Amino acid sequence: MNFTFSPDQLHWQSTARTFAQDVVAPIARAMDENGSMPDSIVEQMAALGLLGGSLSKEFGGSGMDSLSLALIYAELGRACSSVRGFMTVHTSLVMKCIEQWGSSDQKNELLPQLASAKMIGCYALTEPEAGSDAASIKTQAEKTKDGYLLTGEKIWITNANLAGLAIVFAKLPQIEGTKPHTAITAFLVDTKTKGFTRKKMPGKELGHRASDHAHIVLKDCFVPANRVLGGEYHGFKVAMSALDHGRLGVAAGALGVHRACLDACVDFARSRKQFGSRIGDFEMVQAVIADMKTSLEASRYLVYNAAWKKDQGVACTLETSMAKLHATEAAVKAANEAVLLHGGRGYSNEYPVERYLRDIKGLQIYEGTSHIQKIVIARQVIGK
Ligand SMILES: Cc1cc2nc3c(=O)[nH]c(=O)nc-3n(C[C@H](O)[C@H](O)[C@H](O)COP(=O)(O)OP(=O)(O)OC[C@H]3O[C@@H](n4cnc5c(N)ncnc54)[C@H](O)[C@@H]3O)c2cc1C
Repeated sequence: MNFTFSPDQLHWQSTARTFAQDVVAPIARAMDENGSMPDSIVEQMAALGLLGGSLSKEFGGSGMDSLSLALIYAELGRACSSVRGFMTVHTSLVMKCIEQWGSSDQKNELLPQLASAKMIGCYALTEPEAGSDAASIKTQAEKTKDGYLLTGEKIWITNANLAGLAIVFAKLPQIEGTKPHTAITAFLVDTKTKGFTRKKMPGKELGHRASDHAHIVLKDCFVPANRVLGGEYHGFKVAMSALDHGRLGVAAGALGVHRACLDACVDFARSRKQFGSRIGDFEMVQAVIADMKTSLEASRYLVYNAAWKKDQGVACTLETSMAKLHATEAAVKAANEAVLLHGGRGYSNEYPVERYLRDIKGLQIYEGTSHIQKIVIARQVIGK
């Protein structure tokens, strides 16, 4: 393991940093207030090759390694979690999943459109009654002469209103004597299909306000026979492998939020004066910053290690879950401390730390909550 960055890794880090700091950061507050992201953000990410991620060049991807991709997510996450979240779903959950499980026709047709952002992807697993327990999804797939009819509901689906393609997980009739999760099958659904409708999520979201989330209702939504991803009855494996890719993106995004909290606190500790001194001279404030920096470095090594392992082509579920758990928990703590350290100013959106705190709570929940990451880690360590 060598974390001296290669010229390629440095290139992707600096491309993402320049884009994130010059283009995204200046409008992050406005995007949060308006609850949307301009199309130009997606167009520029595609033009820079960021959305191509680690997808191979053969399919229009950028062919970067997983560490380069993690460095991009960290830079985007430092500026805006909604932008980073958009990319993680599109690039890691959707594109990598199709690259891993798709037939050559599916890959040739869909991946170049996704890599160039001509088409946006979303990943639809969660349902009103099935979140952490993905095996209990209720969406049904009924087999017809030339395909399938999907009926059910999906909630909290990131990018759903923007998406031309949804990976939808649904159950075929359960085979006698098998467990419920084995009935899950993944379908590549054209979102323009009759019977595929999108509704606004109820309420106002705590964070990720510039992200696009929707409630999808499927009613006899027809999917042609050649749009099964990874084969009938293999959907649970497809879903979990996609989460392995996505969780690394979430962990790297948390590094970015954590770094942004640290930077904001250091600036504030240097400039804010009370009791005749800059607050950075008070030992309690120094302790907060020391802990924030140390936990950031610990998260960084877990994330880089998981990315490195992924690039070795070996199983890295354990490393990815540990990185996601530690990086998100440490960043939640950092964001919480950052608001306190900014005093009353931290409680207002005059400063970005309150947004960091609202956004980071999402990273702690999606793609498997911290509780679920602990279950994954314990199972890997103890055995099932
Ligand atoms: C901003 C955002 C974006 C999202 N984007 C997507 C998306 O693009 N696609 C998608 O499919 N989903 C998406 N989700 C949904 C997300 O993945 C789920 O919310 C998450 O998996 C948790 O499921 P749940 O909300 O049903 O909570 P539940 O599963 O009901 O969990 C409630 C609580 O119980 C705990 N819990 C559950 N089971 C156990 C257990 N066995 N042991 C200990 N504790 C347990 C959980 O950790 C949690 O604290 C998104 C969610 C958010 C907030």
